[in-house]
Amino acid sequence: MKTADILVIGGGPAGLCATLNAAEMGAKVLLVERDDALGGQLVKQTHMFFGSEKQYASTRGIDIGKLLIEKIGTFENVEVMKETTVIGIYEDGVVTLEERHGGYLKVKPESIIVTTGASEKFLGFPNNDLPGIYGAGAVQTLMNVYGVKPGNNVLMVGAGNIGLIVSYQLTQAGVNVAGIVEAAPKIGGYLVHASKVRRMGIPIYTSHTVKQAHGSDRLTGVTMIQLDEKWQQVPGTEKEIEVDVLCISVGLSPLSELLHQAGCEIKYVASLSGFVPVRDENMMTTQEGIFVAGDVGGIEEASSAMVEGYLAGLSAAEWLGYSSDTLTERKTDLKEQLRSLRSGPEGARIRQGIEQITRQAPGNASRKGQAMAAVPGK
Ligand SMILES: Cc1cc2nc3c(=O)[nH]c(=O)nc-3n(C[C@H](O)[C@H](O)[C@H](O)COP(=O)(O)OP(=O)(O)OC[C@H]3O[C@@H](n4cnc5c(N)ncnc54)[C@H](O)[C@@H]3O)c2cc1C
Repeated sequence: MKTADILVIGGGPAGLCATLNAAEMGAKVLLVERDDALGGQLVKQTHMFFGSEKQYASTRGIDIGKLLIEKIGTFENVEVMKETTVIGIYEDGVVTLEERHGGYLKVKPESIIVTTGASEKFLGFPNNDLPGIYGAGAVQTLMNVYGVKPGNNVLMVGAGNIGLIVSYQLTQAGVNVAGIVEAAPKIGGYLVHASKVRRMGIPIYTSHTVKQAHGSDRLTGVTMIQLDEKWQQVPGTEKEIEVDVLCISVGLSPLSELLHQAGCEIKYVASLSGFVPVRDENMMTTQEGIFVAGDVGGIEEASSAMVEGYLAGLSAAEWLGYSSDTLTERKTDLKEQLRSLRSGPEGARIRQGIEQITRQAPGNASRKGQAMAAVPGK
């Protein structure tokens, strides 16, 4: 059985930052990623990030990933396992892993940081399984990771930041974007992204949805329809549009199943986009020694995922008894960065969600020699 001080599950921005700070504190870290590359969503984000300098603003997502991975390579106390999926966290603290090429092994970590990210939501409508209908993440991966155009003429569903950014990236790749359909009466993404696509002549149809997709063996067109103020389809407002790709970008759901299995208290919080773990301000869940960071704890952005990751890395190492002169100062700074990222009217929804799932931190930040808690009720 393998051992580690800290097992980090997921190598996206949250997991990379958690690994960095935990390793810097001296902890022996095992970072497990199911994909064949580290970086999570960052590997396909060719656009420059917002935020402040501390969260790599004005740097492309893909380059932020490279920077973090390079830093991780300088630590001898970090072991990285790629193409390996964590499939279970059990009552005796044992975690099971499955390697893509057949191996199956067990790890007994002293502490765990879960940074599994999110999965894309989908829409129900007739023929939604036709080839040519993709999630936005898949379209971004095809174009920006593999250099493959998904098609020639796209209808985007969803005018949140991801839908707007991917529409822009499609045009950069020489693909025509016939329009963006948005069910809400208002555009959900930042105005700066919406203005950019509008300047390129892409129409945004608010209060509209997809009624039906057409085609026999592949997508040939879509019927869109207007929605009234009660989100009901308005008969007679159908529009036919000929496209070979329909790109769905209607939100993400936190991938919190492992936390559920580990016995962490989970709540449904709509403003965080799904089932998320209750945690304290140091990112520890209701299971002692199990921490979270990033989209798995509520859908936000890569900037906050990185800050939460740094905080979880410090907190997990501290919980194990590692210490540093600047620990308190660094934790305070990270909490301040999170407050600042969530400030203003744009952050109101997230602030409200975070309030619902944050509990009082237990008095002791360090386990002081206690064994990792057993999963209750099993
Ligand atoms: C299309 C798109 C565009 C975006 N654009 C922006 C943007 O411009 N700016 C911004 O700030 N944010 C953006 N975001 C959001 C941002 O990418 C996410 O908020 C951020 O990546 C979350 O980081 P994370 O580490 O929590 O999750 P992820 O980046 O999703 O990483 C999670 C990792 O965990 C791995 N994993 C999951 N389950 C397991 C398991 N059981 N075992 C092992 N590994 C596992 C996954 O393979 C993945 O690598 C975008 C998101 C998408 C989908």
